[in-house]
Amino acid sequence: MVRRAFLGIVAAGGAGYAWFATRPVVPGPQVARRVSIVQFDPSGVRLGLVEVDGVRKTDLEWRGSLPLDSYMVLRQKDTELAFAGEFHKSQRPGLYRCAGCETVVFDSRAKYASGTGWPAFTEPAARENVVEGWDVYFGLRRIEVKCARCWGHLGHLFDDGPPPGGLRYCINSVALKFSDFRVG
Ligand code: FE
Repeated sequence: MVRRAFLGIVAAGGAGYAWFATRPVVPGPQVARRVSIVQFDPSGVRLGLVEVDGVRKTDLEWRGSLPLDSYMVLRQKDTELAFAGEFHKSQRPGLYRCAGCETVVFDSRAKYASGTGWPAFTEPAARENVVEGWDVYFGLRRIEVKCARCWGHLGHLFDDGPPPGGLRYCINSVALKFSDFRVG
């Protein structure tokens, strides 16, 4: 009797899995084929708007091309632990690129010590290089910040930043790649 019930549960679980595995994949919204982003030279000078290919990869391709911690944040919207990331205290002058596609997304000149344990910026390197949109997480509405070229999840935008703008871009270190400003 007990064994029978157990087998029944296994069968139901198996059927559920088969349904899950064979369900039609509904394509979500994707990055546009071409996107306009602002490029910067290595010393941090803004070069202007350039049209480039959007970076569109399957989930499997992203898994294969990123370290697991970066994949979990960029592609699964995970959040790294506070005070654990590489850049939360850094004051080095340089550019912060998206770890998924190298687009310049933040700049040390807008970075400040928020004390939150995550890198914080008052603005992106260029408005065109990030996408901001509402994100609902366990009923909590927040503004999500994504890379405009690959739609990698970078972090969130809050309104408790320093004056005059009052904005705090709260970004995950593992979603970023840093390079020092280079002159000449
Ligand atoms: Fe990106």
